Amino acid sequence: MAKWVSRWHSERNRGWNKWVRHKYNCSKSDSIEKCLEAGNPSVLVKDLLSVLSTEKFGSSLSKNNFRWQIGNGKDCLVWKDVWYKDRALEEVFKKLYQLSKWKDLELGLFIDLWDCYDHVGSVFWKRTLRSCEMALVGELNDCLRSVKLNAENDKLSWLSGKGIYTVKQGVQWMLSEQNLQVVNWKYIWKICAPPKVQIFLWKFQREVLPTRMLLKKRIGTHFGSTSCSLCDGEEESLIHLFWTCKIAREVWSLIFNWWSLILNQDFHFPRALHEIIERYKDASLKKAWKSVVAATLWSIWLMRNEKNFRGGKLSGNDVFFLIKVRVREWLMAGNMLKKEALVWWDLNPTGSLTRTKELRLKELLVHDCELTLFIDGSWKMQKTGIVYAGVGGVIKNSNGTKIMSFNGPVLEKGAFEVECKALELALEAMKGSNWRESKCMVLSDNASLVEEIEKFVVFQNQHSSMNQRLRFSLANAKIKIRKIDRVLNEEADFLARKGAHSRGLVFCWA
Ligand SMILES: [Zn+2]
Repeated sequence: MAKWVSRWHSERNRGWNKWVRHKYNCSKSDSIEKCLEAGNPSVLVKDLLSVLSTEKFGSSLSKNNFRWQIGNGKDCLVWKDVWYKDRALEEVFKKLYQLSKWKDLELGLFIDLWDCYDHVGSVFWKRTLRSCEMALVGELNDCLRSVKLNAENDKLSWLSGKGIYTVKQGVQWMLSEQNLQVVNWKYIWKICAPPKVQIFLWKFQREVLPTRMLLKKRIGTHFGSTSCSLCDGEEESLIHLFWTCKIAREVWSLIFNWWSLILNQDFHFPRALHEIIERYKDASLKKAWKSVVAATLWSIWLMRNEKNFRGGKLSGNDVFFLIKVRVREWLMAGNMLKKEALVWWDLNPTGSLTRTKELRLKELLVHDCELTLFIDGSWKMQKTGIVYAGVGGVIKNSNGTKIMSFNGPVLEKGAFEVECKALELALEAMKGSNWRESKCMVLSDNASLVEEIEKFVVFQNQHSSMNQRLRFSLANAKIKIRKIDRVLNEEADFLARKGAHSRGLVFCWA
């Protein structure tokens, strides 16, 4: 009888199966139990159900204990069957499944669609995707790309029996999965660039940009010339077009020169690209530089399309000019570059970006409060279970002069608690001084702290997760709180991280 249960799952396209499912109003993905809902089950169904209800078979015959081995992809359902690792995709990608327009599609058909249409487009999803959802689409794409369709039928195997599924195969499968991604590209969705550029980068990294080489692979021998659109020399592969092509190289060297960097000719793609992207550690430069790399790749692609479809001829220098303009616009839209700092953008990008930081910090000091408190907490649990928690803060007057700074380790458990402690210590330090009557502006990069304090101070909300001591300090202080970028809170952040590893609390008055 167990065999029949497995056939219920595996022979969905057979006549008997279709007939039973139709009779009981079951969809392809429904389990046998669904038949009960229709009432009055037949002898066959009753027998099947009696097998399922036994202790021995009950769980081992459930849908989750079967795996599909993909052949032609005509039987296995993309979302509802288990074919990738050990869970159905409807569980792995719950969010995407809800948004999917194709909930009952077979895997083979789905892959066909996937190859033909924009993965984040309206063909697949009920609404426009958000950035985080696009990242999930990237992971879904990994799953789909792991499938190699062949001429055989899909096979269902039972994990508890001697099915087709073997542990050895399972292990090989898992290992091959992990090799797919050498470089972690998740940060694409955080790069300061328009969504269409992020999607372009995502396609670039998935190696699905329609270069001539890729088109030839898809279309076959009827495809015309595969030589590079830009230099007409070598074949237009992704690596050639964006990296080894002499025209691409010219653009890269102009970009490197602009940022006073040295372009190492021996770099190997795509690892090289990763090294280039990770070039800067300083937070304010890091983000901007990623946008520059994104704009460079994007602009090379546009140059290639311009030449291909409109016969336009742009020189390396033209493209360089366009890149500078593009990044400038993106960074200004992202509030990472100030108008006042624009003068240097063309000549000294790093200078204008650090200058922007100064300007933004200065702006933060302009308000009706005499004192500005920059605070931060750092909380990290190591793999060994040891926790390092520290606080740091800087207090400045309205001219930007530092009045006091503090840092040190604390015993609080949890990131939020540590942030609260940082504020508590800053307020306490103020109270002991003659600054106590001053109005204070507290600046923190921690959203939940800012939210809680606002709730408490502005809306007098007593249901707060802050502890009693902090509430008391707040009740007696004239404070306002504002959330700022992490980049602008660097000093307090540094102090907090340093404090986590130091011996005791230190307060330094200027
Ligand atoms: Zn070329």
